[in-house]
Amino acid sequence: THFGYETVTEAEKQQRVAGVFHNVADSYDKMNDFMSLGIHRLWKDHFVSSLNPGATNPPGSPQRILDVAGGTGDIAFRMLRQAHNHNANANVHVTISDINPSMLAVGRQRSLDLPASHQSALSFLEANAEILPSSIKDNSLDLYTVAFGIRNFSNIPAALREAHRVLKPGGVFACLEFSKVDKYPLLNAIYKQWSFSAIPLIGQLVAADRDSYQYLVESIERFPSQEAFRDMIVDAGFAVAGDGYEDLTGGIAAIHKGIKP
Ligand code: SAM
Repeated sequence: THFGYETVTEAEKQQRVAGVFHNVADSYDKMNDFMSLGIHRLWKDHFVSSLNPGATNPPGSPQRILDVAGGTGDIAFRMLRQAHNHNANANVHVTISDINPSMLAVGRQRSLDLPASHQSALSFLEANAEILPSSIKDNSLDLYTVAFGIRNFSNIPAALREAHRVLKPGGVFACLEFSKVDKYPLLNAIYKQWSFSAIPLIGQLVAADRDSYQYLVESIERFPSQEAFRDMIVDAGFAVAGDGYEDLTGGIAAIHKGIKP
């Protein structure tokens, strides 16, 4: 039973994605650990330390960050920790935005365990990444992050254009997403076997929801290669350094960055 969503419209895709994340919200954090054998934590740590939020010149200057498709807060919480504990910068503000109220509700609940100084540097926003609300002004952000979110968007070029609009000149777009393991055929074979057999089964056993996890696997399969996605980022007006991306774990995930000129 797969969605076969080759033929569905954008609106239908959006509705399906909403259903999937509504279904998985409560089990989402636990499932991430099961499905990735805990590796998603290392990827997220690396992503955030590579961005080094709070490292400003001069030190302690304000920084405005939008974490799009921020879900249950994994990236935003890490960014605040890095800013406060590593860079001693309490002037960093992070907005977690997500289209799905159920995911945001889990994030809000989890944020209550953070130190008060981190909680007061955090806000939540229900928003579609493809049409950000006018409360997020043009040229207003220093950093835009999106982790494991963009492959779910119905219209990725529209989301990239919005990212470009809201970033300041010199602002950074940074994306962490599943990608292609094309360079390592053996790893690729093992990974495919794991995704297509184990993940839907784990979804069934742990979350009693095979279909949602089957959708997640298919959405990874359909997402463009590192190079094709980099080209989309360039088409949206960003400048990239070198290849424009960094592979993690042989390309199972990749980080893409772009700077708004
Ligand atoms: N960034 C978090 C993380 O790394 O754990 C959550 C990732 S979760 C796999 C993907 C998130 O994308 C979900 O919370 C979902 O609601 C959100 N999402 C899907 N389509 C979206 C859209 N068009 N705009 C904003 N968020 C969206």
